[in-house]
Amino acid sequence: MTHILLVEDNDLNQAVIEDIFEFDEIPAELTCLGSGEEALEQVESIAPSLILMDVTLPGISGLETTRKLKENPATRDIVVWAITAHAMKGDGQKAAEAGCDQYVTKPVNIKDLADRIRTFLNEHQSLRSEPC
Ligand code: MN
Repeated sequence: MTHILLVEDNDLNQAVIEDIFEFDEIPAELTCLGSGEEALEQVESIAPSLILMDVTLPGISGLETTRKLKENPATRDIVVWAITAHAMKGDGQKAAEAGCDQYVTKPVNIKDLADRIRTFLNEHQSLRSEPC
């Protein structure tokens, strides 16, 4: 099963995303970690296809974590979506510059995020089933 990693320090926000996976029956395994440091340590063993990355984290930021992931050949192909509470002009650009593929604004729109994850999983499945 496809693995998705959520990096989010806030328990309530973690629970919201967990609920989306549970109630929308999203066909992926979700792992939650609370910091960028933990994500960098564990990402290769978790081997997620998608990372939902909170930007504001207690240690290194989500954008810095993403930069490190994108610098490492072993992890740079993992798709990263930044989750940002600062839905201001320029934030999308900052996330893109750090290597984030898309961004999601807080408060998270549950239906929108569920749809986007489903679309991602469909595209990801069809990519993988194509012959080499
Ligand atoms: Mn946070």
